This record gives sequence, C-alpha cells and structure tokens, in this order.
Amino acid sequence: MKKHNFSAGPCILPEEVLQKASDAVVNFNNDNLSLIEISHRSKPFVDVIERGRSLVLELLNLNKTEYTALFLHGGASTQFLMVAYNFLNKKAGYLNTGTWSSKAIKEAKLFGELIEVASSKDNSFNSIPKDYTVPTDIDYFHCTSNNTIYGTQMKAFPEVKVPLICDMSSDIFSRELNFSKFDLIYAGAQKNMGPAGTTLVVVKNELLNNITREVPSMLSYKTHIERDSMFNTPSVFSVYVSTLTLEWLHELGGIPFIEKVNTKKADLLYGEIDRNPLFKGNVVTKDRSIMNATFTLNNTDLQEKFNAMWKEADINGINGHRSVGGYRASMYNALPLYSVQALVDVMQELERTA
Ligand SMILES: *Cc1c(COP(=O)(O)O)cnc(C)c1O
Repeated sequence: MKKHNFSAGPCILPEEVLQKASDAVVNFNNDNLSLIEISHRSKPFVDVIERGRSLVLELLNLNKTEYTALFLHGGASTQFLMVAYNFLNKKAGYLNTGTWSSKAIKEAKLFGELIEVASSKDNSFNSIPKDYTVPTDIDYFHCTSNNTIYGTQMKAFPEVKVPLICDMSSDIFSRELNFSKFDLIYAGAQKNMGPAGTTLVVVKNELLNNITREVPSMLSYKTHIERDSMFNTPSVFSVYVSTLTLEWLHELGGIPFIEKVNTKKADLLYGEIDRNPLFKGNVVTKDRSIMNATFTLNNTDLQEKFNAMWKEADINGINGHRSVGGYRASMYNALPLYSVQALVDVMQELERTA
C-alpha cells in the first residue's frame, strides 16, 4: 500500500493521475508514441495545454476574456523577479510573512523602491500581520497567501486600490476565494497542482497596460500571452500531469468540494495537536494553514520514539523545514482523510505509551 505522504513539496498526487501519467509516458492517446517524445505543437499536446489553461480559469471562477492562464518555467522563484521586472516601475509594497515573501522582496529590490508594508518577522513569522494600510501610490501590492514553511495562511486579503499580486504556490485550488480580487496569481505546480517543472501564472489582461520597461522575451508576460503559453517548449510532462490533476479536481466538484475535505483534515489534525498534552502548534490559532500544519513535541526526549513510530506507520514527510525544525504535516488536496487519521492515531499511541 502507498505511504501516507505528507511531503511539503513536491506533493502527493492522486493515484489515478499517477496511473494515467505513467501510461502516457509509454503510449500517449493510444498513438504508440510517448507523451514526452512528440511535438509540443502537435494537436494532442496543444489540446492538453489548452484544456489545462481553461480548467484553471473555470476552477478559479475567472472570466476568460479578462484573465489568461499560463504554464511557465522557472518555478515560483522566477516569478519573484518576473513580477517586478514587468510591473515595478517606481515602487511596490510587499507583505513579509516568511521565507518566500522575503525572497520575493529581495528580488524585487533590484527593480525599484520597495516598501515592506508589514512584517511578522519579529514574531518569528508565527502569525499574519493584520493592522496595516496599503499605500495608494505604489505600482502593486504583493502578498503570500500561504506560508509553506511556517504554517500560516492569510484568511483575508486587504482591500487595495492598486493591483493585487499573490504568491499562492502552496494553497492554490485548496479553498474558495474571490479570485477576481487579484490582478496576478502565481504558483509553482509542485505544491498543490502537479509535479515540479511548471509554474502557473494567472494574469488579468488589463495589467499589461502598466508595463513601461523593455522586458526580455522569456520574462515578459506579454510574450507568453501572445504565444498562448507556447513561446518556447513548455514542460510537457508537468503540464500534462497538472492538467490531469485539475481534471480530477473538477470531476470531484472543484474548489467548493475540496475545501470541505481540506477543512475536515485540518480540523482533525489541529484538534489532536490541541488536545494531546505532548504536542503544541507553532502558530497563532486563527492564522493556522489548512495546508501545512506545523507543531512540536513539548518534550524533545520523546522525539526519537515518535519518529520511529510514525515511520513504522508508513508515514512520510512530516519533518519540519530545516530552518524551523519540529514537525510539519502538509495536507495538500490529494492527501486522503485516512492519512491524517493515521497520523492522529500515532500521536494518540505516543500519549498512551510515553
Ligand atoms: C515552494 C514555494 C516557492 C518556491 O517555489 P519554486 O517553484 O521552487 O521556485 C515560492 N513560494 C511559496 C509560497 C512556496 O511554497
């Protein structure tokens, strides 16, 4: 049986998606050719990427005349600089909620003035800043919806009069939001959408009017939009598997359905973290992420025993990020509820036998 996979990224994917993907690597579309050895401009692959792009907008409930979905290269990390290269003309505002926000800030500084509108750095990033005002004289406001490493998540987004740009790498397609509030959303595929190798960008077409700088072709949103996300060879395998995962989600009932499942999983695990006297959660309760739950053992002497127990229970990937320590259970869309139950069972067993 497959392990209970709480990996923070690359993430667990649905079994049926993995099966279809492995079939396609050998024989795609019953055409006796592999998916990864045919032209990306052949009709079978163009159909895949177009289906993927249209599913993205449908699942996010975005109008396809207003927004464009792109599958790009370079991970979310390339978006840190691409956003600024295209849209930072004078100054931009950033919310600093953790490692990934800090990296986005570092890159953006190369292109103009940067205002850190608020930061939770002084609280070791264990909460989301709340009382701040977004300036009105900035080119855009950038935030990170879910902080994969620390386990915090923005439950509300500020009302802004400037373009709103969001790194949704680790919670895209996990919960209902009014996505039309955002002017640009990006996400590395490997957290909640597919395998590593492609990056989803959803951009409001209107935002392109704000570009004043000459941008190299590969880093220009305009180029990729004009070429239907085919300016150069896309990561065909990653785009295919992402499209299969989006199809899987669509058939299940889309974001409204999966949000209910995700909430159930998070409630189950946080319930145990709060109930079990051996454990404590790392972050402020109201800012807890439904995707990445971070927690520690109160008594580190139990660490060895606990580690042996969860490994014995076929659990994978709950060690905390190397910069934080402790534990992190990532409960992305494809993780079944019974896997969370398996972890909870181990936590209770530890309490009984400690
Ligand atoms: C993982 C992650 C990134 C970096 O993604 P890459 O695709 O590896 O560049 C950026 N932002 C967030 C929120 C992440 O979780």
